[in-house]
Amino acid sequence: MAKVTFFSGQQLPLEMHKVRIIQKLNLLPIEERRKAMTEAGYNTFLLQNVDVFLDMLTDSGVNAMSDQQQAAMLIADDAYAGSATYTRLYNKLVELFGMSYFLPAHQGRAAEHILAKSLVKPGTFVPMNYHFTTSKAHVTEMGAEVLELITDAGLQVTSDELFKGNFDIAALQALITEKGAEAISYVRIEAGTNLIGGQPLSLANIRDTTQVCKDHGILTVLDASLLADNLYFNKTREPQCAEMSIPEITRAIADCFDIIYFSARKLGFGRGGGICIRDEAIYKQMRALVPMYEGFLTYGGMSVREMEAITVGLDETMDEDMINQGPLFIEHMVNELDARGIPVITPAGGLGAHVDAMRFLPHVPQNQYPAGALASALYIASGVRGMERGTLSEQREPDGTEPMANMELVRLALPRRVFTLSQVNYAIDRIDWLYQNRELIGGLKFIEEPEILRFFYGRLEPIGDWVDQLTAAFRRDLGDSL
Ligand SMILES: *Cc1c(COP(=O)(O)O)cnc(C)c1O
Repeated sequence: MAKVTFFSGQQLPLEMHKVRIIQKLNLLPIEERRKAMTEAGYNTFLLQNVDVFLDMLTDSGVNAMSDQQQAAMLIADDAYAGSATYTRLYNKLVELFGMSYFLPAHQGRAAEHILAKSLVKPGTFVPMNYHFTTSKAHVTEMGAEVLELITDAGLQVTSDELFKGNFDIAALQALITEKGAEAISYVRIEAGTNLIGGQPLSLANIRDTTQVCKDHGILTVLDASLLADNLYFNKTREPQCAEMSIPEITRAIADCFDIIYFSARKLGFGRGGGICIRDEAIYKQMRALVPMYEGFLTYGGMSVREMEAITVGLDETMDEDMINQGPLFIEHMVNELDARGIPVITPAGGLGAHVDAMRFLPHVPQNQYPAGALASALYIASGVRGMERGTLSEQREPDGTEPMANMELVRLALPRRVFTLSQVNYAIDRIDWLYQNRELIGGLKFIEEPEILRFFYGRLEPIGDWVDQLTAAFRRDLGDSL
């Protein structure tokens, strides 16, 4: 991807790849989209993909592969033990991260499972810059407590802070003073902090945080699932990284840690995961769990074809023109939305654009799920599928009370190398239309509310007749246009 100045003066991202395999998309007429949304219980997770035009639900396992990755898949060495495919992946990881040991796992959360089972002691703390759903679940499952030590700037929805994922080092030092280093199982740093909008950490912050850990003998773990975006932001936003190559920044980050794990559904444009380990004793401690839960040590539940794709994908991750595609498209989307007065998380991060439903729909109370309502309205108005990240995604307390989320966001993920700029512009245009008609959008109520993971399986319906009104307004403004 390049950012090119057009003759008109406009600066736009320009794709530095061409499309050689396509998948036909359906853009249903609005009446049919409405029907599909009703059938899905106003829950975008329950939509059928054939009814979705642009799927911006997630970036997990849906990034486009390159011709080189597909070619490598053909030479995968299908052996249970000692496969050459494993050796190629292992060598690539050693080259990039400089750690001697590697354990494969079938995806990111499987790596977290192994990590938590071997390293988390009950009654201890695991401080993080921010939690990720599965990372937290595995730590709490082992009887430890997750502490989120993010700086205040990280939680400001709109800001100019370039590294909103930064660890609050003072808070970490205070914790160590108060509880003692032995009360901490490990410190987890998440690159490209997912749940606060794909926001990066600076190399300086990573170095300082891990130095505090080293001084106290505390183990350091990097969740590198979203490292690619973070690397791009280090390079473009952090003066000390401007003259470094992407592999040099990668190694500088890796050198700070004892352990690096990743979901290859994100890192390396593949499917799978794994754990890189510096210390032999820790490696041996974790090793026994891989054959038990994942598969033999040289595939860990992944297919060898996936492993070949990851090896090549990791190499592509070291190419700035490859990893800038997500961030540049997201920046374009966020800036265009922002310019139209639409409330979005700023500055643009990795992962996707995050629309602030709390400010988009101030007239919809939180117990009527503004982010869920906005995600539904967006699908009806455009066929674009986003993900609710707000109160719907919370779980009720044991006594039935419903906690309100800190933020009501609609996440529009941009899987890497999948969409074209005109598709992104279409999404921007339809969000703009919705914003102009925002007073028509109402709330949702549950008609079927499961006790756990209600955001995955729950079914809702609109409160009142706002969907009729929204559909009529769409016809008025856009006629029979899709
Ligand atoms: C997706 C993700 C995970 C979990 O990975 P899966 O492959 O989906 O199991 C862990 N950490 C972060 C930061 C992620 O984005």
